[in-house]
Amino acid sequence: MFRHSMPFSELIGQDRALGALRSALARGALHHAYLFGGPEGVGKGTAARLLAQACNCEGEGSLGPGLASPVASALGVDPCGICGPCRKIARGTHPDVIALAEERAMVKAGRWEPKGGRAPSRDIVVDQVRDLVDHRLAMKRFEGRRRFVLVDPADAMNPQAQNALLKTLEEPPDDTTLVLVASSSEQLLPTIRSRCARVLFAPLADAVVADRLVADGRSPEEARLAAALAGGSLGRALALDAAALAARAQAVEAAVALDPDDASTWIAFARDQGGDREAARETCELLGVWLRDVLAVQAAGEAAPLALGDLTPQTRAAAGGLTPAQALWRIERARAAAAALRQNAAPALALERMLIGWFHGELR
Ligand SMILES: [Zn+2]
Repeated sequence: MFRHSMPFSELIGQDRALGALRSALARGALHHAYLFGGPEGVGKGTAARLLAQACNCEGEGSLGPGLASPVASALGVDPCGICGPCRKIARGTHPDVIALAEERAMVKAGRWEPKGGRAPSRDIVVDQVRDLVDHRLAMKRFEGRRRFVLVDPADAMNPQAQNALLKTLEEPPDDTTLVLVASSSEQLLPTIRSRCARVLFAPLADAVVADRLVADGRSPEEARLAAALAGGSLGRALALDAAALAARAQAVEAAVALDPDDASTWIAFARDQGGDREAARETCELLGVWLRDVLAVQAAGEAAPLALGDLTPQTRAAAGGLTPAQALWRIERARAAAAALRQNAAPALALERMLIGWFHGELR
């Protein structure tokens, strides 16, 4: 995912998280263990790599050997992205920047071999942590100024693996910083969390995500739709392709046009849209986004900014036709359907249930 190096300013919408890191860097007061928390796809992994680069960059204007010097802090802390260490870190080949990921991914990348011919796990397993602690961190640094261990995703560590890392988190070797990257940090043991300085990465604003997609060459309509569906995750928005987005938009438009008094139309809709669970879930989430637009119009009138601008006439009509309580009730049903679909519910059935709730429920 991370192909080339870039300065911190390229990491969009994370000023608060980066401010904390920048000031620690400028003071030469980097913690020995960080937990980067926040949703998936908002730049946590990129920030971890940038931090390793900033500390090891040899380019002009970099921190230089005296990490804490006032001169360095006046120069700023952006890595250059083109010097030897910056490139090696971006490629994942710097000997002092050690990456730990799910066993299966490490095997696939040719960087790990499970012991005894065991099938690779989806977790980060205790053998991997022991190899890190007993071998790699037991060695001296090779060439870098500061060694980094990037555990991403840290929430893939099973409890055994987490316990094996505890002592190192408490007393890491000199000049070593561990960065744990986790989108579900509640999966980490409290003893792990309490030993790390936490840096929280926020979900990105829809407008920030949409702007970035437009800069990448997507149309404004498509960008808005992808941003609305991505829930603040640029990674997720980038992964949504145009055809799938157009299909979801059509499904939402069809759902919005359903006749509450004709059950046969709801059943037909559920059948037509019920072929694919993931698509059905996205449709439900997008319907939730649309209904929030309806609430926004009810609250702020026609000046309200809408996430799904293409549906403006339908949104205004629904804002006049439904009470806010009804709109909220429908959001609740859409959310329940999306949750059921995440739990393997049959797609057609989940959609039908949502529509029965909408049109036949207590608050129809
Ligand atoms: Zn550099």
